[in-house]
Amino acid sequence: MVKHRQGSGGNASASRNLERKMKTLNNIDKFGRIHSYLRVSLTDKCNLSCKYCNPPEFRARPPLKSKEIVKIIKILSDFGITKVRFTGGEPLLRSDLFDILNEIKKIKKICLTTNGLLLRKKIHKLKISGLDSINVSLDSLYPERFKQITGKDNFMDVIDGINAAISNGINVKVNCVALKDLTNHEIDKFIVFSADNSIDVRFIELMPFCSKNFINANFMPVSEIKKYVLSKYQITSVCMDGVAKMYEIFNAKIGFISPISHPFCFSCNRLRLSSDGILYRCLFDINGFNMKNYAKTRDIEHKLKKYLEEKKESHNINNKISSKISMRFIGG
Ligand code: SAM
Repeated sequence: MVKHRQGSGGNASASRNLERKMKTLNNIDKFGRIHSYLRVSLTDKCNLSCKYCNPPEFRARPPLKSKEIVKIIKILSDFGITKVRFTGGEPLLRSDLFDILNEIKKIKKICLTTNGLLLRKKIHKLKISGLDSINVSLDSLYPERFKQITGKDNFMDVIDGINAAISNGINVKVNCVALKDLTNHEIDKFIVFSADNSIDVRFIELMPFCSKNFINANFMPVSEIKKYVLSKYQITSVCMDGVAKMYEIFNAKIGFISPISHPFCFSCNRLRLSSDGILYRCLFDINGFNMKNYAKTRDIEHKLKKYLEEKKESHNINNKISSKISMRFIGG
């Protein structure tokens, strides 16, 4: 009895403390989502031309300078950001990437998403820079299909890059966009690939960053892949890894990310910095916050807090609407 009273008093005071803490947090929106993860598009340039990453009205914009990027990351770190992922466009095309990495050592977790073409060449510098993990995008394990999707003949460069990262002890995950009539023929091959290399492979749904015709012809919910996997393989464990639901099949680890069929907006902790310095609250946000203007001012925390408070509960995107912003600016 006494114990119970003590317990409930403790709980009440703990929840008051939590409430107080939440009120002082800047990086929280009106739905209680705490934003600690920043994705930075370093450039809108890319050395591949993936069919689904080509918005109808794409025009390149001048990128931020490395000093501006560092300054903005530092501002956002004071705002509560603890994890940064560099993406693009292709982030390894930026020769000043390592200068940026050197200047943001205070950030707890630093990750990179790459198409892998330049990975082998840059792996030693990436390793020394203290990168925590690398996601490599790879939509097919057949060189001809890789070329069909990306427009380039560099399949083996990506495989070499993945091998170089693995042999340097870097944590690698592979992301594969699920494409109807393509991915379905490779599910078993990806499972073997995952087991052979001890790396997670995650299937992600196609998002409307391309023409409606392409979406209509190629969209496939990842549940279709999951259904096949569950019918054919024995699952040894299931867990969540960020937004991916991961299934272990003996030595393979296969995951599913469903931004369209089952959005995960309720748990979103992400902010996005576009290659030209605009902060967005969501991949599908239309109204950005220009960080370039604010890189030198002091009243920014208050303005950022106000901007974040207005984040929508959900992206409300379906495949009937095409995004107005290119994936390359906002960073995939
Ligand atoms: N160049 C790097 C790469 O290939 O990983 C980083 C940028 S790329 C835009 C990041 C990720 O976004 C890639 O995994 C790519 O497959 C994915 N992506 C691009 N357009 C997409 C779309 N329309 N739907 C789903 N994923 C997309």
